[in-house]
Amino acid sequence: MFDNDNDNTPKIPFSQLNLSLQNDTLKLWQNHWDITNTGRSIYNLYPYVSKAIKNLNRSQILLILEHGPFPSYKARFHLSPSGYCSCGNPGTAKHYVLQCPLTSDWHIPSPNPSNYKLSIIDPIYKGKTKALINYLTKNNIEVQGTYPFSQQDTDSSFLSEEEEDT
Ligand SMILES: [Zn+2]
Repeated sequence: MFDNDNDNTPKIPFSQLNLSLQNDTLKLWQNHWDITNTGRSIYNLYPYVSKAIKNLNRSQILLILEHGPFPSYKARFHLSPSGYCSCGNPGTAKHYVLQCPLTSDWHIPSPNPSNYKLSIIDPIYKGKTKALINYLTKNNIEVQGTYPFSQQDTDSSFLSEEEEDT
């Protein structure tokens, strides 16, 4: 039925075809990563796509995304009355990593405070980021007020996942 001897299409080794498809896929992924509007805080740290695993732990991801036990984040969902730290400053991830006197034991030195997230992804600070997130989760250091929910309800989501050390 099929006569392969008359097939004049060039024979391409499977490995070459596989490599070519992988390169094309990476180019498509990079193009999408360059123009999309989401994930820009990660894009600023990792502008180039790669198949390599980044090996970040949960606390590093929470600090980079600024989605964690921070009053400023909780206030977005009305889980914190003010969004301010009890020291009087906005309770942002950056505040706790660089400035807050209540978390000074876990401050991460950053040569460039405006780009402090580069220090967060440094593997030597994995222990500090984990300790900082644990402290923020277990201690209520936001400005107190009337909560729409019980305190246990608002904090339980941050305690539900065990953090992995890699
Ligand atoms: Zn503070």
